[in-house]
Amino acid sequence: MTDADDAQRWILEKTPTLSAQTVPVADALGRALAAEVVAERTLPPWDNSAMDGYAVRSADVSGAPVTLKVVETVYAGQMPKRAIGPGEATRVMTGAPLPPGADAVVMQEKTRALDDGARVEIHEAVTAGTFVRPKGGDARQGAVLLPLGTPIGIPEAALLYAQGIGEVPVPRRPKVALLSTGDELCRYDEAPGDRIVDTNAPALALAVKRAGGEPTILGIARDDPAEVRALFERTRGFDLVLSSAGVSVGERDFVRDALEALGVQVHFWKVAIKPGKPLLFGTLGSALYFGLPGNPASSLVTFEVFVLPALRRMLGHQQALTPRVPGRVAVAQHKPAGLTHFLRATVEVRDGALWAKPLPTQLSGSLRSTTRATHLMVFPKDATRLEPGDPVELIPVSWAA
Ligand code: AMP
Ligand code: MG
Repeated sequence: MTDADDAQRWILEKTPTLSAQTVPVADALGRALAAEVVAERTLPPWDNSAMDGYAVRSADVSGAPVTLKVVETVYAGQMPKRAIGPGEATRVMTGAPLPPGADAVVMQEKTRALDDGARVEIHEAVTAGTFVRPKGGDARQGAVLLPLGTPIGIPEAALLYAQGIGEVPVPRRPKVALLSTGDELCRYDEAPGDRIVDTNAPALALAVKRAGGEPTILGIARDDPAEVRALFERTRGFDLVLSSAGVSVGERDFVRDALEALGVQVHFWKVAIKPGKPLLFGTLGSALYFGLPGNPASSLVTFEVFVLPALRRMLGHQQALTPRVPGRVAVAQHKPAGLTHFLRATVEVRDGALWAKPLPTQLSGSLRSTTRATHLMVFPKDATRLEPGDPVELIPVSWAA
């Protein structure tokens, strides 16, 4: 049996970052740059004021209080028409370019206007650069704006928009095939009769979409070797394949044989975890194949721990594993040694710590036990007891509302 950490590492070692395409910035959200982006504009284009106040020569106000002559008022969107000389100031609003000669801004609250604004009393000395947003503070034309590998979040998008850059190169979205196996399954839009609804494929498709992939549901294969093989034949050309069920050692578990018949190289098929011990990982060329467990909670948990990082890596992220956050155990837990448990938990902030409370039902067949969970609480492989207050690692889940 493979350890959870090894399984995560091996998966990422086999996961390619996909080839680049140029897409609109809005569509690049969640993907990492496939090439560095160079600034086309220097921004801000001029020194400007970070406050409503007065642009001054810092040397003039070192002996504050002092009174200066106000030569002009400049609003954001206007350019100053005058430089300031000794003993002079310009009234500036936030965002207004600084006039030549000024090297600092005194905030309005530290001043008093005199003679209807013709002069100003400055109450506080400021050093050069105070409340000045320097020219080029965000970007210098020709310099690297965002290095290769930068994940595009909303501030990065804003930085690109400020440059007038509307498109960037990022990895293409992974094409992900989803398929289900089991005689007992039907589609959610069919009358079930004696069958149960295949929830794994549509739920995993949502998780794939949220992670930036393009899901395609291929359908359900009955527990018949030929039918399972035929469905897997249709996975050629996908970047990642997620099947669920049929990977344990039951008499009707045909997934592994079907994958081998397809030419998939199976790297492991049992991981020392709960839920989700039957978990298969294989590759066919650059495509990744995951045989997830059939139990609905297990398939979602194994998606979070093993599949989501692979999707992130395909999309160019260096930080592919979900960063774990430190927490504390709220309720005592016991288990035998041997498997790493990923307990579905809710959290509460108390005394500056994140207290994790595993949901009372951890049955892997229970969807309800998964609905309110926001974190997976890691109960380490060889640990057998966790007492209230013990430190523990928490993995925030992507499936939460
Ligand atoms: P298996 O891995 O085939 O032994 O399935 C384990 C459990 O998961 C069984 O109770 C199945 O009915 C259930 N199951 C399998 N596939 C799905 C699916 N696609 N959606 C919901 N439940 C499933
Ligand atoms: Mg089955």
